[in-house]
Amino acid sequence: MRSSTKILLIYTGGTIGMQKDFETGALKAFNFSKLLQRVPELKLLDCAIETISFENPIDSSNISPESWVAIAEVIEQNYTAFDGFVVLHGSDTMSYSASALSFMLENLGKPVIFTGSQLPIGDLRTDAKENLITAIQIASLQENGKPVITEVGLYFEYKLYRGNRTTKISAEHFNAFTSPNYPFLIESGVHLKVNKDLLLPLDANKPFRVHKLFDAHVMILKMFPGINQKVLETLVNIPDLKGIVLETYGSGNAPTEEWFIELLQQAIISGIHIVNVTQCSGGSVNMGKYETSSELKKIGVISGKDCTTEAAITKLMHLLGQNIPTSDFKNSFENAIRGEMG
Ligand code: ASP
Repeated sequence: MRSSTKILLIYTGGTIGMQKDFETGALKAFNFSKLLQRVPELKLLDCAIETISFENPIDSSNISPESWVAIAEVIEQNYTAFDGFVVLHGSDTMSYSASALSFMLENLGKPVIFTGSQLPIGDLRTDAKENLITAIQIASLQENGKPVITEVGLYFEYKLYRGNRTTKISAEHFNAFTSPNYPFLIESGVHLKVNKDLLLPLDANKPFRVHKLFDAHVMILKMFPGINQKVLETLVNIPDLKGIVLETYGSGNAPTEEWFIELLQQAIISGIHIVNVTQCSGGSVNMGKYETSSELKKIGVISGKDCTTEAAITKLMHLLGQNIPTSDFKNSFENAIRGEMG
């Protein structure tokens, strides 16, 4: 690590910087400068840290595509001045935001590391300090004067994951995230163990670009036995609906009933993009493996392969924002753009 490494800490809100409201007892976001006072250890790090905060820090349940644009613009405006970026964010929707930012930031040549915590930084047993300090160290990692990580990562409880491969799995444990279909990139023990073979390669000749357009006329539809024809009919006929992430069973399976397939087919014909992801916590969609997915394949449902739901819905919003012609959309979705699918 070079002592001249410059890191920009971007505070959006989340438990890490929250404190108790004495009147209601609920946790709410508080001033970022106070957060840094709680971590004097940051001064010991071998890098220069500057900070920038959302004017009104938010619980991540209130994160929106506008918030993603705000984060991306901070990175864009400070891209050349800093060696790496750490985004402090509530854990509840962190996987959505890390996925969204991964799609927004094309040819990213510097680390963007999301982190947060399960307990506020002022709590005696907090996990915030370790997460924050190690996320900054990871963002500062350099080899031959170049950043080691050139992608959007998520650091939590001793592991750095590819951001768009993560999902939150616990509201209780410090080990709150997992990456079901892609191994962790770095493990923090006595040393930081970097799995170099797993990192996203960078083509240094291509310019860094930020894509800011999202189309949020989308929804996630989780399959369950008993799904009702009238309900589905109403949903697929929502005016202006442009995309659906369909959470299916197992390797991408769904009912074979005629009304069900017909409703999806009509939706596709009317221009709605339907992406098939599995509601299992690991594994991939493989349409055609079972009879219960053959029809989906036939009518032109897009395979989300081994994408998380978080990556699928943010990629859908991102690609819809790019105005890709309908005839190319399936192909565009089924190709990985930031290592989000296998
Ligand atoms: N509700 C909080 C948030 O997502 C939880 C956390 O920060 O971990 O903002």
